Amino acid sequence: MSYSLMIHGGAGALEDLKYEASEAVFRESVLSILQAGRQRLEGGESALAVVEFCVMMLEDSPLYNAGRGSVLNAQGQVEMDAALMNGSDLRAGGVTCVKNVKNPIALARQVLEQGDHVLLAADGALQFAKQQGTELCPDAYFVTEARIKQLAEAQAAGRMTLDHERIKPAQKLGTVGAVACDLSGNLAAAASTGGLVNKRWGRVGDTPIVGAGVYADNETCAVSATGYGEQFLRTVFAKTIADFVQFQGLDAAGAAQAGIDYLVRKVNGDGGRS
Ligand code: ASP
Repeated sequence: MSYSLMIHGGAGALEDLKYEASEAVFRESVLSILQAGRQRLEGGESALAVVEFCVMMLEDSPLYNAGRGSVLNAQGQVEMDAALMNGSDLRAGGVTCVKNVKNPIALARQVLEQGDHVLLAADGALQFAKQQGTELCPDAYFVTEARIKQLAEAQAAGRMTLDHERIKPAQKLGTVGAVACDLSGNLAAAASTGGLVNKRWGRVGDTPIVGAGVYADNETCAVSATGYGEQFLRTVFAKTIADFVQFQGLDAAGAAQAGIDYLVRKVNGDGGRS
């Protein structure tokens, strides 16, 4: 039995941007996290543990729109969403609109393991984090200079944008995610984000919603999406891809393409997936 692992740092075309230095930094970061995740799968860790691990590493890096370095909402605050799903039994956990949680994906894992609920929001999620002893950080840990500048640009343009959308260049970094198949053939998917730049506070995107931003089922595939969350919610994007595998017999790559075609055709959607 072999294993497989894919991770992403958000949608967007690096080659369009011509920012060689930051592209190199970005690639090095993704590749080192991928390598660390591969070693864990090789060592026999579960797909669920490895997608959580990879997303935590991505959250800890200020390069991405997740955890430290998350984009800012219209009030200049970080509000984060994350979720993960286990393909062997469809257990899932998510958190939405959380502040001060160092690794929202780790909190989502605790929601999954605790098992009573699938999704916890805002203050309730924070209270759960405190009860679980999850690591918390002050606001200053999450907010970077680049994000303050990015919000000012979005507000000056009167827009709500994807992290990597170009109001001005060099805004290509994004939401993070991972999908894996472990040595036992079990699948898992995870995603984490600060959401959209200049979003309304309290806004919930696709990332914490099972079936929209993430989905994993051993019978079909594992999906972690990135792009405009509203469009992914309206097309139940991740589950739509799984359904192409289940009911139309497509392979994972074919199903992903069919899902994107559907997204574009139905809601003129914009994004990517792994
Ligand atoms: N899907 C995320 C959201 O809408 C954004 C992204 O993927 O960059 O919250």
